[in-house]
Amino acid sequence: MRVLETEVCLPYKFAYGSVNSRFFEEMEKNRRIMGTRCPQCHRVLVPARKFCPRCFVDPEEWVQVSDQGKVRTWSLVNYSFAGEPKPPPYVVAIIDLDGADVGFLHFIGDIDLSDVERVKEEVKIGLAVRAVWSEQRSGTIMDIKHFAPLK
Ligand SMILES: [Zn+2]
Repeated sequence: MRVLETEVCLPYKFAYGSVNSRFFEEMEKNRRIMGTRCPQCHRVLVPARKFCPRCFVDPEEWVQVSDQGKVRTWSLVNYSFAGEPKPPPYVVAIIDLDGADVGFLHFIGDIDLSDVERVKEEVKIGLAVRAVWSEQRSGTIMDIKHFAPLK
């Protein structure tokens, strides 16, 4: 089968809005991870959300959560794909931050990625991790470089 390989360029701007703006400003300026608490189900949503996707009500209470938590689930990415966040290999995980009621997606770093078996020995469900903050922060999710195992 013949295949035409080409690229589609789609530049766009995403307006953060008030809630995402505050969330990223807290990360950039104060190294704080902030959530919002739903007044109906009382869950702390992180990153902070404009509305609770379960209850469809607007949380107004802001809550600082810990920059530490435990790995709920993870995956080793060892192949390239379009739009990849960085060259493989790397580990992505859903992390249950202390004080939050929903998972937080980010990278796991400071681990040996040279061998899959080694990664499986190091990264486990329930592994305690802590945010490693970027020295140069710019108001993006990468203000946290990654989460590293607590030793
Ligand atoms: Zn809710």
